[in-house]
Amino acid sequence: MKKPILFLGSKFVILICSLHLSVAESTNGGDRAQFAPSGEPSLNASIIPREKWGAKPALSGMQPQNVIGIILHHTGVLKNPKVSIEAKMRGLQDFSQRPGQVSAIKTKPSWPDVPYHYYVDANGRIAQGRDVHFAGDTNTSYDTNGYIQVVLEGDFEHEVPDDEQLTALRNLLVALISSWNLAVERISVHKDHAPTDCPGRHFMQLLPALLAEVAKQRVRSDDPPVSNDICAQQLGPDCLPLVNPRPNPSFDCATARLPVEKAICSDQELVQLDLEIAVAYQAALATLDGDSVGALRQQQRAFIAARNRAFGQPNYQIKQEMEHRLMVLRAMIQTR
Ligand SMILES: [Zn+2]
Repeated sequence: MKKPILFLGSKFVILICSLHLSVAESTNGGDRAQFAPSGEPSLNASIIPREKWGAKPALSGMQPQNVIGIILHHTGVLKNPKVSIEAKMRGLQDFSQRPGQVSAIKTKPSWPDVPYHYYVDANGRIAQGRDVHFAGDTNTSYDTNGYIQVVLEGDFEHEVPDDEQLTALRNLLVALISSWNLAVERISVHKDHAPTDCPGRHFMQLLPALLAEVAKQRVRSDDPPVSNDICAQQLGPDCLPLVNPRPNPSFDCATARLPVEKAICSDQELVQLDLEIAVAYQAALATLDGDSVGALRQQQRAFIAARNRAFGQPNYQIKQEMEHRLMVLRAMIQTR
């Protein structure tokens, strides 16, 4: 399978695995000013948030997701440690948000945002990609919904990952599976889901040892709370907004007074549902305009008011009601 290649400026290439893209060179030579000196120390694997690499907002059309696993990728082009991760991310986002020619006969649509949630560069630096609460994108045929997409810079059919990269990836995976309470078995690779050689045979050789190490370091939700800031502990201070060790619902539990709010706060499953409803509601609002916005707001207020009134009554099943609401909101997004 041919490799997708994105040319940006004259100096570097970004590849989305399993795409075959050839994009005209940018006439803007400004990217060159972003080159980082090679060999810069990068063992501190804190995550570079979107605002630090200059991300533009995501476009409409994002699909909310409930995280059930992680998929690993390689970019599929040789590492280029001389280009800064910030420049790579901006280039990737530019490419992602426009329709593109994938091959002579195939095009890609514009995606709302970069297809991956985390990008690990050749120096072991990590950048935040798409908001993890929304499904990633792919040009291969599989359902991305539910997966955190992690990509490593490199073509691991033809080269091997650097130690810095593997260390950063290991720390990221430990933080992610601990934060999202995933079993290590929920970590998979692109070729498990679609016909592709991504993430490359040299990476595949290293994968069993990597996963064993991740499993050993995993912090379980029933472990004593060493520090709830697993992310900070593993990845440094910048990562706090990115992975949430113990999710909170859409409202503040510290000031929750209603019995139904206290019930949600005391049950992680309900917390998760409440969060997903909030995400789906915002996503549904974003697809509407005019009077429809006010109508949906009214509908959502009515749902919450009914929930608050009915909670505690013998026939009221809060979990089922919340699941139903989530389904309705998601259906609204998908039919747009
Ligand atoms: Zn891939």
